[in-house]
Amino acid sequence: MIRRAIGCWFVAALLPGPLCAQTSAPPITIELNNWPLRRDIALVDGATGIAHAATEAALRKAFEKSVASADARGRWFRASKLYLVDLPTVALSHTLGHEYGHGTRRRDIGLLDNGFALDNWPWPVPFVDAHGTGRGGINFFFDPIALGVEAGGYEAGRVRDLKFRDVFSREDVDYFSAAQLIYSRLEEPMAAILYLRDSQVRDFTTKLFAGPLDDMRAFTATFTCVRYHSISDPDAQQAARDIRRHAALAVLDLQLLGSFARVGNYLWTGKAVGSVPAITFGDQHFWPRATFALSPIGVARGGELQWTRRALSITAGAEKTEQGIPLEEVGRTDRGRPILAAHTPSLWSGHATASVGRRTFTTRLDTNFWNQAATGHGGAVEARIQRRMFSGPVPAAVAVSAGYKSAGYLAGAPNAARWFAAIGLSVWP
Ligand SMILES: [Zn+2]
Repeated sequence: MIRRAIGCWFVAALLPGPLCAQTSAPPITIELNNWPLRRDIALVDGATGIAHAATEAALRKAFEKSVASADARGRWFRASKLYLVDLPTVALSHTLGHEYGHGTRRRDIGLLDNGFALDNWPWPVPFVDAHGTGRGGINFFFDPIALGVEAGGYEAGRVRDLKFRDVFSREDVDYFSAAQLIYSRLEEPMAAILYLRDSQVRDFTTKLFAGPLDDMRAFTATFTCVRYHSISDPDAQQAARDIRRHAALAVLDLQLLGSFARVGNYLWTGKAVGSVPAITFGDQHFWPRATFALSPIGVARGGELQWTRRALSITAGAEKTEQGIPLEEVGRTDRGRPILAAHTPSLWSGHATASVGRRTFTTRLDTNFWNQAATGHGGAVEARIQRRMFSGPVPAAVAVSAGYKSAGYLAGAPNAARWFAAIGLSVWP
């Protein structure tokens, strides 16, 4: 505690403003690893952390009295800061991760032309739209591989879930991480609910060829083709309704609702870090949630539970994939239309993460298991060790991870069997 206080004093003397008023600010983490999507997202998140810490420091210096005050002036200040600085930063970071997600899945299938362009900046509305500038090269409407490319943007959110498991394993959550979780977890369900309304999917076949579609409708179109081997309007509407229904359930997420409460609490009280609502028994906290994901092997839905007790945190979840792909023809209808079934009728995946965190030493074990149509049973395992190196002027930690996955789809990973290795440096500003 004394060392920490001295460290804070030292940083405060070097940098503008009382930087160390909060002791659980999000760390800035720079990570190098050998999986493209996780590497890209780690770089985006590292840059986001630096941008956030720098703007916080500058604003604290300029508006010292308003930053954390629990009066009307402080509330106006924080509302403006959230709207003009924090949410735009999160929105931009979120969209960059999304676009890298598409790019990685395109590279996976040999398309090297994977640029993207931003359509707008996050003002006056804190959302960023972007579009890929790479040319096609695959038959998007009948190729299951295209599902991975369409869903690749949303996959970035699932890569970030590993980070959120760490965030929620701490006693207190900072408002900035809570805002990142809100963007990440709401993206897919909101897109499904907004873009797959009946009116949006009516005349689907006409719309399909009239111009570019957003990811959710493009996925639905491709999914319909792969699932029914047709793109008739009734089939598309049925697929859209199924996806939308699963998506709507995904807002049943206690971490998501708790994150709204955390950001609201920051706005009102000025406390940048604090507890988040959970189901609590004594010193145990539970966060259950429904999950929903678009993936190259279909639409997956399931549930997840994170449990923490002091330094220990365990997250476990399972998902069922609604339609396995690839499909095979098992018969014909009276009208000669093929009846298709997945090679493997029941497809599922599960994951579990356990972390034990002490102040100076934390370990995390992350496991995944699956049964997928194309590759059968498989799994992945990854271990991480993080150690605080300096608790002096700027507390820092070094983390080393290593793991292995077998062939198959795993969010953020190459499809082939592959080793994983990472080294990261975290700094608490
Ligand atoms: Zn996209």
